[in-house]
Amino acid sequence: MFIALEGGDGAGKSTQIKRLTRNLQDTGHTVLTTREPGGSPMGEEIRDLVLNPAYAPVGARTEALLFAASRSAHVETVIRPALQRGEVVVTDRYLDSSVAYQGAGRGLGTAVVRDLNTWAVSGLMPDLTVLLDVSAATGRARRSSRTEDRMEQESEEFHDQVRQAFLDLAAQSPDRYLVLPADSPVPALAERIAARAQEILG
Ligand code: C5P
Repeated sequence: MFIALEGGDGAGKSTQIKRLTRNLQDTGHTVLTTREPGGSPMGEEIRDLVLNPAYAPVGARTEALLFAASRSAHVETVIRPALQRGEVVVTDRYLDSSVAYQGAGRGLGTAVVRDLNTWAVSGLMPDLTVLLDVSAATGRARRSSRTEDRMEQESEEFHDQVRQAFLDLAAQSPDRYLVLPADSPVPALAERIAARAQEILG
């Protein structure tokens, strides 16, 4: 089973991923927790390249291609092997982040970015995508101060477009998506995410 957590910067994905991982382990599952951009040794190097301020500004197409390459390596070397071993894979961001950030936020177009990435991962999509929906203002206030974070480099409008793109993706795939308001209490969110994951696991 393959689970992705998505949402804007400051949505609280990492907190919920820790809780979900623990819940799944406590119920006897072997869990591989990973993240994007990154997730594999080569993918992490590509992440560092894209997010390195020394190379800013990175062109939108360059960024989209590098993230797609990183994701392809992540799927082939980490995610698919774990799924084949029967593990539950929980990833902090996946393909829909590229559709939202590069497709909508950077204006490349959501369809072309989706198609590029679907090709890069040979069609592998999550069984469950949890969207922690967060406004740009809340995300900004909540996020931890991280040098890797792009929050300050992008406009309010950029983050609004990213948020709307995630909501559109969720509306297009209601069976795959669980959309939750990121400003709900942490334990309440954790409970709802675990309940849906357990339901799918049967
Ligand atoms: O999720 P995380 O905070 O690790 O992502 C690092 C940075 O990369 C964030 O600022 C996020 O907005 C950005 N990002 C991006 N395009 C993606 C994925 C992440 O611009 N496809």
